Amino acid sequence: MRSCSIDDCTTPAARRRTVCHKHRTRLNRYGDPDFTTWTTADDTDVQLLIEQQRVPDSATRLERRLIAVGLSERGLSAERVAEVVAVAPRTVHRWRAQHRTETAA
Ligand SMILES: [Zn+2]
Repeated sequence: MRSCSIDDCTTPAARRRTVCHKHRTRLNRYGDPDFTTWTTADDTDVQLLIEQQRVPDSATRLERRLIAVGLSERGLSAERVAEVVAVAPRTVHRWRAQHRTETAA
Protein backbone atom coordinates (compact mmCIF):
# COMPACT_ATOMS: atom_id res chain seq x y z
CA MET A 1 0.00 0.00 0.00
CA ARG A 2 1.18 3.49 -0.81
CA SER A 3 1.88 5.77 2.12
CA CYS A 4 0.84 9.40 2.55
CA SER A 5 2.81 11.80 0.34
CA ILE A 6 3.36 14.34 3.13
CA ASP A 7 6.97 14.28 4.40
CA ASP A 8 7.52 12.17 7.51
CA CYS A 9 4.02 10.77 7.47
CA THR A 10 3.98 6.97 7.47
CA THR A 11 0.22 6.58 7.58
CA PRO A 12 -1.13 4.74 4.52
CA ALA A 13 -2.85 7.00 2.01
CA ALA A 14 -6.61 6.93 1.99
CA ARG A 15 -8.19 4.93 -0.85
CA ARG A 16 -7.64 6.60 -4.25
CA ARG A 17 -5.79 9.48 -2.53
CA THR A 18 -2.16 10.48 -2.26
CA VAL A 19 -2.38 11.61 1.35
CA CYS A 20 -3.78 10.05 4.52
CA HIS A 21 -7.14 10.97 5.99
CA LYS A 22 -5.72 13.34 8.63
CA HIS A 23 -3.64 15.28 6.14
CA ARG A 24 -6.43 15.39 3.58
CA THR A 25 -8.72 16.92 6.20
CA ARG A 26 -6.12 19.54 7.12
CA LEU A 27 -5.48 20.38 3.46
CA ASN A 28 -9.19 20.74 2.78
CA ARG A 29 -9.86 22.77 5.87
CA TYR A 30 -6.76 24.93 6.18
CA GLY A 31 -4.80 24.49 2.94
CA ASP A 32 -1.82 23.43 5.05
CA PRO A 33 -1.00 19.79 5.89
CA ASP A 34 0.97 20.76 9.00
CA PHE A 35 -1.70 23.00 10.40
CA THR A 36 -3.31 22.11 13.68
CA THR A 37 -5.12 24.50 15.95
CA TRP A 38 -3.77 22.70 18.98
CA THR A 39 -0.06 22.16 18.53
CA THR A 40 1.10 25.51 17.17
CA ALA A 41 2.05 28.15 19.72
CA ASP A 42 4.81 30.70 19.59
CA ASP A 43 5.94 31.21 23.17
CA THR A 44 7.33 34.72 22.59
CA ASP A 45 4.07 35.83 21.00
CA VAL A 46 2.08 34.32 23.81
CA GLN A 47 4.07 36.18 26.50
CA LEU A 48 3.76 39.45 24.59
CA LEU A 49 0.04 39.02 24.07
CA ILE A 50 -0.45 38.29 27.77
CA GLU A 51 1.37 41.58 28.53
CA GLN A 52 -0.81 43.44 26.06
CA GLN A 53 -4.00 41.57 27.03
CA ARG A 54 -4.72 41.14 23.35
CA VAL A 55 -5.45 38.17 21.10
CA PRO A 56 -5.23 38.42 17.29
CA ASP A 57 -7.92 36.74 15.20
CA SER A 58 -5.24 34.45 13.81
CA ALA A 59 -4.38 33.03 17.26
CA THR A 60 -4.66 29.27 17.44
CA ARG A 61 -6.80 27.46 19.98
CA LEU A 62 -3.67 26.52 21.92
CA GLU A 63 -2.41 30.11 21.92
CA ARG A 64 -5.78 31.29 23.19
CA ARG A 65 -5.63 28.75 25.96
CA LEU A 66 -2.09 29.72 26.98
CA ILE A 67 -3.02 33.41 26.98
CA ALA A 68 -6.17 32.66 28.99
CA VAL A 69 -4.14 30.81 31.60
CA GLY A 70 -1.51 33.56 31.66
CA LEU A 71 -4.11 36.28 32.17
CA SER A 72 -5.80 34.22 34.88
CA GLU A 73 -2.49 33.96 36.71
CA ARG A 74 -2.31 37.74 36.62
CA GLY A 75 -5.55 37.88 38.52
CA LEU A 76 -8.00 38.76 35.74
CA SER A 77 -11.54 37.48 36.24
CA ALA A 78 -12.75 34.61 34.06
CA GLU A 79 -15.26 36.99 32.46
CA ARG A 80 -12.53 39.49 31.54
CA VAL A 81 -10.24 36.72 30.25
CA ALA A 82 -13.10 35.31 28.17
CA GLU A 83 -13.61 38.74 26.64
CA VAL A 84 -9.93 39.17 25.72
CA VAL A 85 -9.50 35.65 24.34
CA ALA A 86 -12.94 35.66 22.68
CA VAL A 87 -14.24 32.42 24.15
CA ALA A 88 -17.06 31.63 26.59
CA PRO A 89 -16.32 32.17 30.32
CA ARG A 90 -17.11 28.47 30.76
CA THR A 91 -14.21 27.65 28.44
CA VAL A 92 -11.88 29.80 30.55
CA HIS A 93 -12.95 27.93 33.68
CA ARG A 94 -12.30 24.63 31.93
CA TRP A 95 -8.86 25.73 30.72
CA ARG A 96 -7.95 26.92 34.22
CA ALA A 97 -9.00 23.60 35.70
CA GLN A 98 -7.07 21.66 33.05
CA HIS A 99 -4.01 23.82 33.66
CA ARG A 100 -4.18 23.19 37.41
CA THR A 101 -4.46 19.44 36.83
CA GLU A 102 -1.56 19.43 34.37
CA THR A 103 0.79 21.47 36.55
CA ALA A 104 -0.11 19.49 39.67
CA ALA A 105 0.74 16.21 37.93
ZN1 LIG B 1 -0.37 11.90 6.28
